[in-house]
Amino acid sequence: MGLKDYKEKRDFRKTKEPSGEQDGGRANLFVIQKHDARNLHYDFRISVDGVLVSWAVPKGPSTDPSEKRLAIRTEDHPLSYADFEGVIPEGEYGAGTVMIWVRGAYENLNEDERVAEGLKKGHIKINLQGEKLTGGYALTETNKEKHWWILVKTRDDAVDTRRNPTSTEPRSVLSGRTLAEIKKEEKEDE
Ligand code: MN
Repeated sequence: MGLKDYKEKRDFRKTKEPSGEQDGGRANLFVIQKHDARNLHYDFRISVDGVLVSWAVPKGPSTDPSEKRLAIRTEDHPLSYADFEGVIPEGEYGAGTVMIWVRGAYENLNEDERVAEGLKKGHIKINLQGEKLTGGYALTETNKEKHWWILVKTRDDAVDTRRNPTSTEPRSVLSGRTLAEIKKEEKEDE
């Protein structure tokens, strides 16, 4: 883990994404960013040992334990990325609009193992506490070469097979804006 891949992929003179130079002190943070890039997806990130460990989840998280969601592990991001909402310019890595869809705190549900250890072994179970998403979620690695994991809701009080927060709650928890509104307002700023 580390930020080498993150920095190599980006030109910080062109994108307003954080360079990750001044980070610190944000343990147990989780954030899910809705990212309208080449393909719309949700970036699921949790803070582990000073970076945001990240997965791209094409369909986003579900509140139904029978819904297994593909999660592709991506490069670690700086902790300050949890504050990023805006537009990545055309031609830059990940070009498109980014929204803070949900943000909150998480805790490790595995008493015997640190999250960092679980990540190495390919399985973690965490509890989320956010406005749109609560309760247990498990992430399990299914293909090491392809960086494929599965994100699934675990069975607890927060299970709701009828809720579909990715479609019914499409706005930013930070600004209340939709992706289209973020894109439009950023254009006007230029
Ligand atoms: Mn993304």
